Amino acid sequence: PSNSTAGDCQLGPAATPHIILFPSAGMGHLVPFTRLAVALSAGHACDVSLVTALPTVSSAESRHIAALHAAFPAVRRLYLSLAPFDAEASAEFPGADPFYARYESLRRAAPLLLGTLLASATASALVADIALASVAIPVARELDIPCHVFFTASATMLSFKAYFPTYLDAHGSATAICDVDVPGVCRVPRSSVPQALHDPDDIFTRQFVANGRALAAADGILVNAFEAMEPEAVAALRSGAVFAGLPSVFAVGPLMPVKLRETGDEVAEEQGNCNDYRAWLDAQPPRSVVYVSFGSRKALAREQIRELAAGLEACGHRFLWVVKGAVVDRDDAGELGDLLGEVFLRRVKGRGLVTKSWVEQDEVLEHPAVALFVSHCGWNSVTEAAARGVPVLAWPRFADQRVNARVVARAGLGVWVEQWSWEGENAVVGAEEIAERVAAAMGDVTVAEKAAGVREAAERAVADGGTSHRSLAEFVRHCRGRN
Ligand code: UDP
Ligand code: UDP
Repeated sequence: PSNSTAGDCQLGPAATPHIILFPSAGMGHLVPFTRLAVALSAGHACDVSLVTALPTVSSAESRHIAALHAAFPAVRRLYLSLAPFDAEASAEFPGADPFYARYESLRRAAPLLLGTLLASATASALVADIALASVAIPVARELDIPCHVFFTASATMLSFKAYFPTYLDAHGSATAICDVDVPGVCRVPRSSVPQALHDPDDIFTRQFVANGRALAAADGILVNAFEAMEPEAVAALRSGAVFAGLPSVFAVGPLMPVKLRETGDEVAEEQGNCNDYRAWLDAQPPRSVVYVSFGSRKALAREQIRELAAGLEACGHRFLWVVKGAVVDRDDAGELGDLLGEVFLRRVKGRGLVTKSWVEQDEVLEHPAVALFVSHCGWNSVTEAAARGVPVLAWPRFADQRVNARVVARAGLGVWVEQWSWEGENAVVGAEEIAERVAAAMGDVTVAEKAAGVREAAERAVADGGTSHRSLAEFVRHCRGRN
């Protein structure tokens, strides 16, 4: 029912490793894979191919892939057509998150499609997304191709994931999940364990545990984290304290944002609506704006959106707020006015800019007008805030985000109000509380200084000779050893 097509370029010279990158789905995975592709191709002279499963789940992914290939033609394309598997996955897991359903489709397709694709490409190594680890590793092994895993979240979350199967084995997988003590790293309280993991039959849990068990069979693990920000986690992963059998862990973050000009940009610019937020930001005084975003793929509950709106209005600061009305952008047809009310939009006009469009988040974070990032703590957002030194007011919503929020708070990149609710807890955080916390974070000189310190540490890590730069070079040496 499906097929694969290899790219048409010639292989590089024997000394140039050819690395095939295999992301799963969603911008939270595609973005760091893109950064890795560019770092390996432009920064470390590797021959790189990026596997793209078509059709993509979201429009944001399609636009991003087109822009990547326009800007970096040296990164080769390998396509997998996948459509027929999605229905099967959703029938078994009714109501599943569309991105997790796509992981499932990819996982089922991998033995056949990935095998065909790898057999026809001369690869030095495969780098598989964490969500595909347990299915990709055996396929690569069969063909005698080393398989590394790219973990797109924090090193702390990686340690939790690597340890979680041991926890289940010790406690019995049928018992309720309590606090999880990750050896050498931290205690992840029950309340910070990703919601889905409390249900052993959840689609996410099944994948998470299978992939966690597979980590020891990988040839190496890349993580978009850096030693100075998560020293305990990186050390414990490497020393064997978390899990004795783990392969080398390459901490290569924060992978640097790549400037891409998205194909829609010209059209939108002509229509005069694309640069709205850019022009608006340019008109604001330095360090005066609160940037608010909960990532690429989750909508807040309507009631929470209304409280947040009132809170931002009451906080007394300018704000740029990216609002989402649905999990997948293609389904998000509603108007801003329906979500927030025209009256609100009129009242805040000028002082606040609210948009449902995609913004180039890294451009926003780098803008001198931006002083604070109210963030869900998706790991890419955290790494981007770290790279630009923008303090974070952490408001995690689901999955790994509370674990990441703890990293943010401990590293001094920002503050986390731990009692603020996340998905599955009914409490709505009120407008007054939001306004107070935003105002306090805007006025917090210490947190701004510490965030600037995190930026400096990130810059040192990725500079020539820095820990992350050396780690990536070492990874490339591993791959080169195979030619
Ligand atoms: N992003 C963006 N513009 C948007 C929304 C998201 O550029 O309007 C980017 C963001 O910079 C990050 C990625 O999309 O690189 C989202 O990944 P993250 O891990 O932060 O959160 P997720 O969306 O996976 O929950
Ligand atoms: N994840 C994982 N194993 C999986 C699927 C996801 O470890 O099989 C991790 C993923 O890297 C991230 C977290 O679980 O740390 C949330 O995954 P998701 O894909 O939902 O990321 P999001 O899109 O929310 O950023």
